[in-house]
Amino acid sequence: MNLAKDQKRLLNEVESRELLSQYGIIQNDCEFARTKEEALTIADRMGFPLVIKIVSPKIVHKSDFGGVKVRLNSLEEVAQAYDEIMANARKHQVAADEIEGVTVQEMVAGVQELLIGAKRDESFGTIMVIGLGGVFVELMKDVSIGIAPLTEEDIHRMISKLKGYPLLDGYRGRERADVRAYVHMIQKVEAMMGKEESILELDLNPVILKPQGEGCVAVDARIVIKDS
Ligand code: ADP
Ligand code: MG
Repeated sequence: MNLAKDQKRLLNEVESRELLSQYGIIQNDCEFARTKEEALTIADRMGFPLVIKIVSPKIVHKSDFGGVKVRLNSLEEVAQAYDEIMANARKHQVAADEIEGVTVQEMVAGVQELLIGAKRDESFGTIMVIGLGGVFVELMKDVSIGIAPLTEEDIHRMISKLKGYPLLDGYRGRERADVRAYVHMIQKVEAMMGKEESILELDLNPVILKPQGEGCVAVDARIVIKDS
C-alpha cells in the first residue's frame, strides 16, 4: 500500500496492548511508568523477575538504544536499570522530552522466541509471516510466509518448514515448546487482520513459547495503522 508517511501511524504501547487483548492475544503483565519512582512502585507491587523498557515515539527498536533491561530481581536493580536506560537514550541523542517513560513488565521464561508478522497487501490481501524471533531475526532470516486464509494445517506446515523447527521439538534434550498455543495465536492475529481493516502492518516479536501445555506470550508488539 503506497500511503504517504503522515497517513500511517504507529500505535503506542497502550493502544497496541488494548487492541491485541481484545482479540485474545495473550500478553505479559505490563504497566507504564512516567518516572523512576513510579517504576519502583509498580515493580514492588508486581514482584520479580522483571523487565523494563523505554517508551518513546522516537524509538522503534528499543534494544538498539540500550532501552531494554531484563532479569531484574530487586528494586535496586530496577533503579539502576532505569538510570542506565535514560543514560543510553541520551547517548543516542534522544531528547528528554521525547522520552515518555518506561514500561515495567513481567519477565517471561520460555523455550524459544518466535515472531508473528502480518502485512496488508493490495494484491495478495493479508500476508502472514512466522519464524524465529528475538533481536537477531535479521541475522537468522528463518521465516515462513503464507497468505490468508490459512487452515490449521497450513499453519503447522509453515512452522515445520522453519530451519529452527527442531528448537521447538525437543532438540537435544530441550523441552518441547507449546506449538499448539503458537498456532492459536497465529489464528487470532489472522482474525484480527480480517476485522481491523485499518491495520497495515503488525509485528509480534518476540512471542515467547513456554513448554508444551503452558502457552505462549507476546511481550513486544509493533502495529502500524492507516490514519484516516
Ligand atoms: P525491541 O524489539 O524493541 O528491541 P523487545 O521488547 O522485543 O525490544 O525486547 C528485546 C528482547 O528482550 C526480546 O527479544 C527478548 O529476548 C527480551 N525480552 C523483552 N521483554 C521480555 C519479557 N517480558 N520477558 C522475557 N524476555 C524479554
Ligand atoms: Mg521486539
